[in-house]
Amino acid sequence: MIITLKKSTPQVEIDRLTEQFENFGVKVQYLEGRDYKLMGLAGDTTHFYESDIKANEWVVNVQRIAAPYKLANRMFHPEDTIVEVGNIRIGAGQPVAIIAGPCAVESEEGVCRIAEEVKKAGAAMLRGGAYKPRTSPYSFQGMKTAGVLALEEAGRRNGLPIVSELMSVDKLDEFAEHVDLVQIGARNMQNFDLLKAVGSINKPVLLKRGLSATIEEWIMSAEYIMAAGNPNVILCERGIRTFERMTRNTLDLAVIPIIREKTHLPIIIDPSHATGDWKLIEPISLAAIAAGADGLIIEVHDHPEQALSDGAQSLKPEKFAELIRKGRLVAQAIGREL
Ligand code: PEP
Ligand code: MN
Repeated sequence: MIITLKKSTPQVEIDRLTEQFENFGVKVQYLEGRDYKLMGLAGDTTHFYESDIKANEWVVNVQRIAAPYKLANRMFHPEDTIVEVGNIRIGAGQPVAIIAGPCAVESEEGVCRIAEEVKKAGAAMLRGGAYKPRTSPYSFQGMKTAGVLALEEAGRRNGLPIVSELMSVDKLDEFAEHVDLVQIGARNMQNFDLLKAVGSINKPVLLKRGLSATIEEWIMSAEYIMAAGNPNVILCERGIRTFERMTRNTLDLAVIPIIREKTHLPIIIDPSHATGDWKLIEPISLAAIAAGADGLIIEVHDHPEQALSDGAQSLKPEKFAELIRKGRLVAQAIGREL
């Protein structure tokens, strides 16, 4: 970290700052420039926050050299993390994992029917929301506990591990008991109490990127979960808010190589929430596989026009099966299984 100080900074202030930083175990080097004074901090600076240091009236600028995250950082953990969910392994070099299912669990029969279809098509895991983060309080809010149990039953019958979204800490035990992969939704990416809570359980976590989160903020949220004791985090890009209105969100596919470089965690893509349009799911999914995604999470419904949420972006089972067939060819072309 490099701190730029005003040329007029008194020596007593420099001594005080030096002592303050050294107390945290970092080494401080001082350089007197022509127009400014500079302090270089070497060592673990993750405990320092740029804006706290900028509060000092003598400080002109603070520049971080090392990333503010440690546990998620590829630099300190060069090997790829492979996250195991039931019998499925997700991560670099593993087969591309396809997670599919309805946006929301609507009934046990319904989710069992869709589970059978996605299993037949080649999905590795079943998704389905039981607690839904809806923009309107008047929209379907999910089947809650009954939905979790119905999803569990559908997964059990078809031999598919299940993923579902946890919205609040008070349902942590329910998820730890019944859900194989705990999803933290975009809207809760910076719900730090929830992140710490899922950090304390022995279940892998699917962490979606927040609606307007930078990549670094997203990685810092993974760091929260890891710092609380849970190393099994999968990152999921689901599009971000931009000025563009032709798609529900704007998919940032560049995150695949960026996350791969900055972290050792698996990265998957959600083309459904990224585009909001079933017609765009196939091309975007194929592009994500080609770009090296470790998996996809796709909404599938057998009667999208009757779906209680996100019907417009849900694929019918036949289209989903076709997507998997094409996805296999793309995966093969880059030397990967699916
Ligand atoms: C979902 O997966 O159903 C969902 C609500 O996703 P997101 O949090 O990405 O909007
Ligand atoms: Mn949805």
